[in-house]
Parts: sequence; structure tokens; C-alpha cells
Amino acid sequence: MITKDSIENLKSHLDVVDVISQFIELKKTGANFKACCPFHGEDTPSFVVSPAKQIYHCFGCGVGGDSIKFVMEFDKLSYPESLEKLAGMYNVPLEHDNNFKKQDTSLITKVNQHYQKLLSHNKEASEYLVSRGISNASIEKFEIGYASESNDTIGFLKTNFLNLADAKEFGIIDSGENGLYSRFIKRITFPIYTITGNIVGFGGRTITGHNAKYINSPQTKLFNKSRLLYGYHLAKDSIYKQKSVIVTEGYLDVVMLHQAGFTNSVATLGTALTAEHLPLLKRGEPKIILAYDGDKAGLNAAYKASVLLSHSDFLGGVVIFKDGYDPADMIVHEKIDELNEMLLSPTPFIPYVIDFIIRKYNIEDPQQKQQALKESNDYLTTLAPILQEEYASLISRKLNLNSNLVQVKHFNTQKATNVNLSSLDIAELNIIRTLYEDNTLLDMLKENIAKDMFQTHNLELDMLLHQENIEQLVWLSLHDQLKTYSKDELERQLVLLSIPYYNKQLQQITHDRDTDFRKKTQIIRGLKEKLKELKSGKLVNIEN
Ligand SMILES: [Zn+2]
Repeated sequence: MITKDSIENLKSHLDVVDVISQFIELKKTGANFKACCPFHGEDTPSFVVSPAKQIYHCFGCGVGGDSIKFVMEFDKLSYPESLEKLAGMYNVPLEHDNNFKKQDTSLITKVNQHYQKLLSHNKEASEYLVSRGISNASIEKFEIGYASESNDTIGFLKTNFLNLADAKEFGIIDSGENGLYSRFIKRITFPIYTITGNIVGFGGRTITGHNAKYINSPQTKLFNKSRLLYGYHLAKDSIYKQKSVIVTEGYLDVVMLHQAGFTNSVATLGTALTAEHLPLLKRGEPKIILAYDGDKAGLNAAYKASVLLSHSDFLGGVVIFKDGYDPADMIVHEKIDELNEMLLSPTPFIPYVIDFIIRKYNIEDPQQKQQALKESNDYLTTLAPILQEEYASLISRKLNLNSNLVQVKHFNTQKATNVNLSSLDIAELNIIRTLYEDNTLLDMLKENIAKDMFQTHNLELDMLLHQENIEQLVWLSLHDQLKTYSKDELERQLVLLSIPYYNKQLQQITHDRDTDFRKKTQIIRGLKEKLKELKSGKLVNIEN
């Protein structure tokens, strides 16, 4: 963990205009700076940077925050990663808590270099790669190597005085009955990197027909198979630029896809796609193309991944390679146009799942048809209401059933949280802006404001009152159509919102048949007193 003090120290060295200028060109307009927003396509600048407030905000797409947030968004980094980056850019040292020991990856880097050297001297391994159609440029780009006999790796570690305990920790070697042995023996090696470019493990493919075709480094502190994606560090620029990522099942698929120009390709590390992969896949908000084999395992994996992705609102779909062809084979056989065509028109996740479920059954048989309906209904009800409506008809069509047999669960549709710039309720937003900018006013008036006094922007008010996600309110301070009220004006506006609020309560209690008479008269008296106060221009406390 990076210490709080050193984060504060770093922040004191940062100027938002200077930081953002390192990434995009800013033009001064009045007290602020403007640019075309780097996060959404636009021709007229709506991206504003305020040196006085040390924040940025885009009026087009709603992004905003401080210097650190900008680097996180622009470079798709996590919070600590962007701190590290800024610390490097401005040459400010960061301190880490004692319990955090930054892992030294130099050992595994040296082993990787050794494997790469071995590949160039090994005829069998090189021939295997040539036979799979892999170019020398790809071998270099992906740092593909070759792990020889066990003794060779152990010998390399020893002659270079590398720490054997660390090598064990990294999963390069292990100890057995006969002493130390290398985990990768006579295998093509594919180094696996984290998003920040640290090598943390290897994947290895046998060239001797070993019955484990592929093995991976064991799970270590650094190497989490269900979180990493092979090739991500090389693909990330393309992923963010193209807003699309191709997820495959194999290392060779990734290498070959990159070689054929699909540089936004990655692979899971011999595991299924899991929820742990989702944060990485969310970066840059790309649509996701699952490019899986057409065998039973591939179809199943695509089904499970599609359920997962459809529940997490990812866009994209599934491409299945038939006739035992994987993407790598298609490239070797120069079917690149056909491949491109397939990748451009995937089956969206939800129809894929529905189709997969229904195909399991023989729907000519009424009982199986009933099962198919039940299973697809179960899946349907896990989706958002609008999607349920949309896909209910697909299920009824596929099963050739009357559409009212397909259930759709109805939920209370929640009010959209996006601020629609055309329907801004200026008075409400001005109040929120004023209180957002002045904490003392907020403290003073907290007792006088109830969430439901606001018709349109009670969500923003709630964030302010509970001090939650408050950084999302920065745009209020930068919006041209809004203003900050004086204290008197603020109170006047709050009185104006309070009167209908208490009037409504009064109406409700008057028509309430459940409350007993004495209690009711008491409440009505209290509300009438409040309204009297308000009409004389004074704010009242919401609690009593
Ligand atoms: Zn924008």
C-alpha cells in the first residue's frame, strides 16, 4: 500500500492543467481551459479544465475528476497504478507501507531471456512454430521461448547466482523426491504479463507429445490465472482505440490473430472466463467478442461466458469456429477475410444463451419442449426488464409457442440516473451546487432539507447529503447555465421547495384512515405550524 502521506505529497506536486496537457492539447478560454474530449468523439470542445478548482469535466459525456482520475481514465489504470505513473512523471518518490514488498521480477525476466535464447538454438521447437505459421516478428513480439531439459533451467539459475527459493516462488522450479526440477520441460514458452507490463508467469506447450498439451505456472501471489489475460499488455492500446476485444482460448490464437492484424486479441489462461476477469475486460468499455472453438468444451465455455457477460451488461457476442478450425488455423489457411467477416458479426450473448439452452432439447417432444421453456424462462428472468420483454418473443418463436407462455417479470422501473441536459431543473441544481461548494452551508441547512423536496434531482441531493460519490457532482460547478446562490437566495429557494413538500404531507395524513385520531390531529397541527413558518419565509426542521 502506498502511504497516505506520500499520496498527499504527490498531490501537492500536481497541477491539473499541467498533467492533462501532457496527454492532450488544451486551449485557454477565460479562467478555464478547453479541449475536444479525449473520452468521446467530438468536434466542438466540451471538455473543460479548471485550474482554480483543480478538476476537469466533460459536458458531452459526463466524465470528470482530478489529475489522478484523469490518468486513470486516460491510461486505463487503477488508482495505485496511476499514482505510480504520476510519481514517475513528476519525479516524486512514493512510500509504501512496510508490509508491502514490491516483487522483484528480474529473476523471471532473466529466465524468460534464457528461454528465448534457447528457442533460436533448438531446431525442433523452431520447426514446430514454423509449422504453425508463426512469424519471427511474432516470436519476438510475444517473446516466445523454449524450456529445455530440467537440468538446463536449474543449471542456468545456479550459474547466474539466482535465488532458488525465489525461482520456486515464481513457479519456475519445484522440489520433489529427487531434488529440484524445472516445471517447464521441453516446452514452447509463452511469458505472461500483467497489464502494467510485469512478467509473472509462463504458459508452456509440449513439443514431445506429453499428454498435458499446455501447462501454466502455478498460482502464486503474483500470478492469478483467473484474473489475467494473455496478451493484454500488447493488446490494450488497440482495445481502447477500437472499443472491442477478442477473447480466445489459446496462446497460439492470440499470436496468430495479432499477426493477421487483429491486435485487440487476448486469451484466458487455460481457464474459463470468470467474474474475476470482468474488471480487466471493463477497462475502456470495449465490446467483447468471444472467439471459441466449435467442440463441446468450446460451446460450453461460450455459453457460460455469455451468461456471465449478459448479466454484467457487456455488449458483444460469440463467434464459434466450426469444423475443428480455430482462429489460428484460419489464418494459416489464409482465410483472413472470412475470419474478419465472422468477427464483425458475432451472435449477441443473450440470443446465444437462449439458442444454446433450446438446442439441448428435442422440441418435437412436448415434455422436452416444456423443459426447454422452463430453462429459458429461468434465464430470462435474470435479465433486466426491458431485455426480458425483448427476448421473450425470441423464445416463443424458437419454441413455436404462444408468447404469453413466456414469463416476463415486471419490476418497478427505476428512474434513470443520467442527467439529461435538456431537462435540467435549474433551481434544484443551483441549490445542490451551492451546498456542494460550501460545506458550512450544507452543515447549517442539512436539518431543513428532505430528499423528497426535490422532484428531479433527488439522486444528486442524496449523494450530497450522504457525502457519497460526491466527486460525481463536480460538473455542477463548471456548468455555464448554473449559478451559486447567496445564502439568502438559497434559503428563499429552499422555502419554495418546502411548501409543496409539506402541503403534500398534510394532504396525505388528512386522507389517512390507518392512523388513530389523536395522533392524526397532532401531526396535522405540526404540519400546519411548519407551513405557517415557511410562508413567513423561515425554514423549518424536517425532524420535528
Ligand atoms: Zn467527453
